[in-house]
Amino acid sequence: MLSIIKKYAGSFLLALSAMIGVFCAAQIQVHAVSKADLSDLMKKFPDGKYWNHVGSYENNPDGWTDIPCPHVLVEGGEYDYYVGIGYCNEFGGDVQCVGFANRLIYEAYGTESYEQWETTSLDNLKPGDVIRYKMDMHTIFVTSVDGEKVTYSDCNGNFSDCQIKWNQNTTKTEISDSLTAVYSAPSTLSVPLDNHSAVSTDKLRANSEITVWGIGEGGTEKYVYQFSVLTPDTDDYTILKEYADESVFRYTPTVAGKYSVKIQLRDSSGQVSLKKIGFTVTEDDPVTVINGQKIYFAFQDFRYQLYSTLMLVVLFLTSRKILS
Ligand SMILES: [Zn+2]
Repeated sequence: MLSIIKKYAGSFLLALSAMIGVFCAAQIQVHAVSKADLSDLMKKFPDGKYWNHVGSYENNPDGWTDIPCPHVLVEGGEYDYYVGIGYCNEFGGDVQCVGFANRLIYEAYGTESYEQWETTSLDNLKPGDVIRYKMDMHTIFVTSVDGEKVTYSDCNGNFSDCQIKWNQNTTKTEISDSLTAVYSAPSTLSVPLDNHSAVSTDKLRANSEITVWGIGEGGTEKYVYQFSVLTPDTDDYTILKEYADESVFRYTPTVAGKYSVKIQLRDSSGQVSLKKIGFTVTEDDPVTVINGQKIYFAFQDFRYQLYSTLMLVVLFLTSRKILS
């Protein structure tokens, strides 16, 4: 009997450990899926909204309202403190700036509190890191670092209404004046790379030049640009300029027809973003106006030569008539 119980207990433990294994695996999966980039976070918690649940008694860390928080900062003897924080959203055990930073890093990395992260120095600061400063009174979420310049998002930055703000700027020097700690994110926050490339015209004549500008935004600078062209007599894009720093590309089509230029951007983190822009090339024209000032005549075949000769004869005859 005892041996039977032992036998069942063994398989029960085995089943239990298998279930725990599945549960843990599922947890890891959830974290991987919940990973958000900068534009996801900005969409989810829009600039100017209020990270609170005014109008409802229920905490809503996943949302926001249009109503400023009624909480008030009271100046105490030794410490300042808040009253009326009942409508502030709470996440990771905290409200206001700390709770909001916790929520952002949860969306991006799956961690519920930045205090679980290692601390680092301002020299290693990167997008995704969290800074505690202003005499241990404020917390911000770093979205971009460019030398001295630091761009960040926060909530309740004015200590009065739990408003959400993005794209705010400060400097490392300013932060270091009142720094408590820099909490290091497990990886750089991903910022989507957008391709805003453009062309000088969507219609031009054969044998004239079109200018293509490679324009990138977001991602991790700096960018490299690759240019390809699809001509009326090819089925696929041909790379005419391999990845390089040069962001301007000039191209002179020789035959009329429909064209498309493909601009591929690549940032230093390896993200690639491509854009295709179509343009039409028409037959070469005998009259080309340059800068709207000088007019050049190009006689390229017999028809034009005949036409221009006739015009000269007419002019000659008319002038003679006027003179006589
Ligand atoms: Zn509040």
